[in-house]
Amino acid sequence: MHVLPRYPYRRPPELDGRPQDPRPAVVIGGGLTGLSLALDLARRGVPVLVLDDDDTVGVRGLASRGMCWAQRTLDIFERLGVAGRITAKGVAWNVARVLARDQPVTSYTLQDQPDLRHNGFANLQQYYVEQYLVEALQAEPLAEVRWLNKVEHMASHQGGVRLTVGTPDGPYELDAQWAVACDGASSPSRAALGLAPVVHDRTEDRWIIIDITVPGCDWAQERWTWLDASANGGRAVWRHKMADDTWRLDFQLREDEDAVAAATPEAMCRRVHALFGDDLVFEIAWSGVWAYRHECLADLRAGRVLFAGDAAHLVAPFGARGGNGGVQDADNLAWKLALVLNHGADEALLDTYSTERKQGAFENIRQARRSSRFVHPQGQAAARLWREAIISMAPQLPWAARCINTGRLSAPCRYTDSPLLAGDAGAGAALPDVRLGGTSLHHLLGPWFTLLVFADRLPRALASVQHPLLAVVLVSPACDRQARAALLRQLGVGADSGECWLVRPDQHVATRQAHLQPALVPALLAAALAPLPTDPPPAPAHDLHATTA
Ligand SMILES: Cc1cc2nc3c(=O)[nH]c(=O)nc-3n(C[C@H](O)[C@H](O)[C@H](O)COP(=O)(O)OP(=O)(O)OC[C@H]3O[C@@H](n4cnc5c(N)ncnc54)[C@H](O)[C@@H]3O)c2cc1C
Repeated sequence: MHVLPRYPYRRPPELDGRPQDPRPAVVIGGGLTGLSLALDLARRGVPVLVLDDDDTVGVRGLASRGMCWAQRTLDIFERLGVAGRITAKGVAWNVARVLARDQPVTSYTLQDQPDLRHNGFANLQQYYVEQYLVEALQAEPLAEVRWLNKVEHMASHQGGVRLTVGTPDGPYELDAQWAVACDGASSPSRAALGLAPVVHDRTEDRWIIIDITVPGCDWAQERWTWLDASANGGRAVWRHKMADDTWRLDFQLREDEDAVAAATPEAMCRRVHALFGDDLVFEIAWSGVWAYRHECLADLRAGRVLFAGDAAHLVAPFGARGGNGGVQDADNLAWKLALVLNHGADEALLDTYSTERKQGAFENIRQARRSSRFVHPQGQAAARLWREAIISMAPQLPWAARCINTGRLSAPCRYTDSPLLAGDAGAGAALPDVRLGGTSLHHLLGPWFTLLVFADRLPRALASVQHPLLAVVLVSPACDRQARAALLRQLGVGADSGECWLVRPDQHVATRQAHLQPALVPALLAAALAPLPTDPPPAPAHDLHATTA
């Protein structure tokens, strides 16, 4: 069985009275979000310090938690240089199958993958992903990770943040220009600043995860959902393959079930054997009981402290939106913080992080809530009737099959109402990484903004479009016949159409123009460096019961 790495604690110089300049950026929490953010910042030229209260990745005892990584996350990891290791170790899958009354009722394929650089999804235990991120960070001269350094207190003031950090050798003080709290669902940073998230809903629905290792098992590499498995007392079960011949099984518990009794080795083995037969030989790699709630901070920025990942918002695991959302937070924040710290951008740029990623969080909450209502309609009679009708019609009627919602899987949020976008129909969406012969669309992008010109030579009117943060790239010369067809299929754009797309550093499209007015590009770049205030995005619908945690 896999053994988690242990990282050494090193005595911080502050403990020996050596004065240190304020750090430009401190990341609190070396989990999935904090590590992704730190790697992105370091690669963008920002010296970054990560403080983590632990000395390993994941949660002790091989608790994987996250394991489904969406295509958008893989695209971000590609940019950060770790996607290759994740896809090599992980399990690629595209087909999701649903069973009702123990019979297959529908299946769907997630992604027309051959046109795109990455698969619809890759499954890999979260601790592996974090380990690869740590190893990539260790190779970055601008990054430092301090293990067993627990942030115990913080205060944000006009010019920065003062942190009190506990270590095995005692506490020390540290100043930072900016701190990003990536310290997880119970975020001590939130408490230190007197902040509490708005709770949008919570349920009593509980699940037991039983990760089992079954060497040489030939079950399909697909996501299987039993909506009402008879072997689980008519309740739901999920099955996913991960690395190391390990399978994630999520069993929905009965409302009156004793979670402690359900988590004994005997009870867990009984559950697994009931579903897959007594002959199955397996080992339990990890188990845990979970319930869920949906919550989000009112503002992801509090002065000089920003919040990202589970510290900022929490979503049920339906659709694998938590960790994927945290990586998208990192993707959205890193370039903005780097522009503020190193390129003179106005601090207001960081408010657009809050606006855009709250929109992402609310979208995730909306989707996860719909799935949870379908999987677990609770006392809602109308929802239960609808569910029963849909399930019985699904084998015959494709529209009914499409209504079966076992978790609409994580997809990138299309930002709207952001001052960083031109407001046209193509703006705000993440640019898919279309394969182009020996390269791909994302590999054509520069480190900051890129003007993609779908032509083989630059129109004269665009010759004057220049900016130190802008790369202007012709797409057509990189395209063979197949690539041209893929661009049309995936983006609806001809390689020689003359269209111009301005792409942000996080690969989201700022504008898509059939006939670009050259003045629009400097206007959008100026808006990025000094954005105007925006209205906050609307909260998820049916939010009458939102409370503060
Ligand atoms: C059962 C389950 C299944 C899931 N499946 C998926 C999935 O398939 N796909 C997906 O995308 N998401 C999934 N998620 C969600 C995903 O695991 C989380 O969203 C993700 O771990 C959040 O990452 P994070 O870095 O924001 O927080 P965390 O992973 O919680 O990391 C927080 C870090 O902060 C550190 N820390 C805490 N306090 C301090 C302090 N005071 N000082 C210093 N460091 C501190 C912790 O040690 C930790 O390293 C799942 C979650 C669960 C529970």
